[in-house]
Amino acid sequence: MAPTEAAAAAAAKGRVTALGVAACERDAEKLEFIEEKTKNFDAEQARVLAEILARNGGAEYLRRHGMEGRTDRAAFKARVPVVTYEDLRPEIERIANGDRSSIISSHPITEFLTSSGTSAGERKLMPTIEDELNRRQMLYSLLMPVMNLYVPGLDKGKGLYFLFIKSETKTPGGLPARPVLTSYYKSDHFKHRPYDPYNVYTSPTAAILCTDSFQSMYAQMLCGLLARTEVLRVGAVFASGLLRAIRFLQLHWKELAHDIRTGTLSARVTEPSIRAAVAEVLAPDGGLADFVEVECAKDSWEGVITRVWPNTKYLDVIVTGAMAQYIPTLRYYSGGLPMACTMYASSECYFGLNLRPMCDPSEVSYTIMPNMGYFELLPHDPAAGEPAAGRDDGPPPRLVDLADAEVGKEYELVITTYAGLCRYRVGDILQVTGFHNAAPQFRFVRRKNVLLSIDSDKTDEAELQAAVERAAALLAPYGAGIVEYTSQADAATIPGHYVVYWELMVREGAGGRMPEAAVFERCCLEMEEALNSVYRQLRNGDAIGPLEIRVVRGGTFEEVMDYAISRGASINQYKAPRCVSFGPIIELLNSRVLSKHFSPACPKFSPHRK
Ligand code: AMP
Repeated sequence: MAPTEAAAAAAAKGRVTALGVAACERDAEKLEFIEEKTKNFDAEQARVLAEILARNGGAEYLRRHGMEGRTDRAAFKARVPVVTYEDLRPEIERIANGDRSSIISSHPITEFLTSSGTSAGERKLMPTIEDELNRRQMLYSLLMPVMNLYVPGLDKGKGLYFLFIKSETKTPGGLPARPVLTSYYKSDHFKHRPYDPYNVYTSPTAAILCTDSFQSMYAQMLCGLLARTEVLRVGAVFASGLLRAIRFLQLHWKELAHDIRTGTLSARVTEPSIRAAVAEVLAPDGGLADFVEVECAKDSWEGVITRVWPNTKYLDVIVTGAMAQYIPTLRYYSGGLPMACTMYASSECYFGLNLRPMCDPSEVSYTIMPNMGYFELLPHDPAAGEPAAGRDDGPPPRLVDLADAEVGKEYELVITTYAGLCRYRVGDILQVTGFHNAAPQFRFVRRKNVLLSIDSDKTDEAELQAAVERAAALLAPYGAGIVEYTSQADAATIPGHYVVYWELMVREGAGGRMPEAAVFERCCLEMEEALNSVYRQLRNGDAIGPLEIRVVRGGTFEEVMDYAISRGASINQYKAPRCVSFGPIIELLNSRVLSKHFSPACPKFSPHRK
């Protein structure tokens, strides 16, 4: 080939970067950006910290810790304490109540992001500033260039993504409080994004921006069906969201097929902007309606995703952490399509991305981007349960910089953000798997203290204990009490639900008797009422199914203990696990069930009530 021809061919294929052959020039720039930032990881971290300290040094928080005018890492480490949400609560409440002075940040706090973690039963409120949106957008802009390295031709079709916003509230001081994705989808960055052939969604923006989840899902599913042969990837943020979409199709395919046949949109979708957007793509199509009816009427839904959307190359969905429980179900519905976990982020800060997005879910490692915030690591001893700083005894923790992370070790992530969080413990336990250039890569191990999670709910041991105690009070009139209990997040149902196993003791003699089924049902609801607001909200939004109590026969927990001891647990230290995920133990428990009971109603939830 003549040099000019070779150059033209190379240009057509895209530039060669250290990460691979870029799909286009814009991708090449993004990939080079990743290379540059990860090569200069520690210098970039020093720069980010200095920038944050220079910006926020005059704010009350850093001044209080003697940091005004100081931007060096050593002073920061020596003076600024490592904190949790509880420690920052007074500052956060002042901002929420309308104090506009520079409390933690010199830039105005523009809104609160409602984290899915809770504190005292309420969602945590994360203050954020305007320019964080740019940083989040920047991280999003790196995802497709990396994906294009592994999956060619994604510009030749569309993505079917089920994306949703939630309703928002205002704090007493008038700032919006909403989830980070609601904030992002409502921003100009998303609403007015320029056309990008690699990022064309089947879902109309109007459907994504509707807070009515039925109308939103209906329109997104309908548009996804209409574009079924163009769809190259199917996704949602978390695995649980994608499974809800499949469940929705199971429940509503007849109505959807009817709309496709007649070219009319169901009257249940009332939002004018959605109706207008759907009208642009909806026309009578008997062939497609027949296809949907035939496929959806089949007894088996195995592989339904690839049957309905035959050109799908991968699922774009997070299946790490608590979402790993959905992998088998997703495999079943997708006929084993790859599952790409592309990024790791939180309301507090977006952290990084997966540079090998097509790897097996068990091998996913996230590379932290050093320009997103300043990151430190709190060493975590898996055997000790809690990170060292979580215990009252022992010396104060020594935090490790990311550049000094040791492969194989576990750490809790501690962040310092442009919005003013300083040395804030995120609560995620990560394990170092290696480095990309100088940037450490992490496997998401687990969220600290989370026992049960179905969607974005996070229920800890103390909450479960309190809920069980509240429900147990309803058994007292029967002379019955709970001897032992444990729980399981049952991901086999869609939506998933909490299962709580109870072993009971009923007082012998006068007045003691086994309560009837209706009492256990009330116990289920009582437990749900006692759980945190995120759980109750998701229950009301059908993202979590009714809580179930399974009463097991006397002696079951002793058998569970025998089993644990036979596998090496110490008799002295044995405690009944408050949550089980190990197959043989679940089987054992299930084989001893005397009765099953479900919550008969949704627990109360209002955005304004605890
Ligand atoms: P939120 O506080 O609602 O913004 O949720 C953020 C939390 O979700 C993180 O701190 C993690 O615990 C979890 N999370 C986010 N991304 C991932 C991921 N890729 N894999 C596992 N867990 C994640």
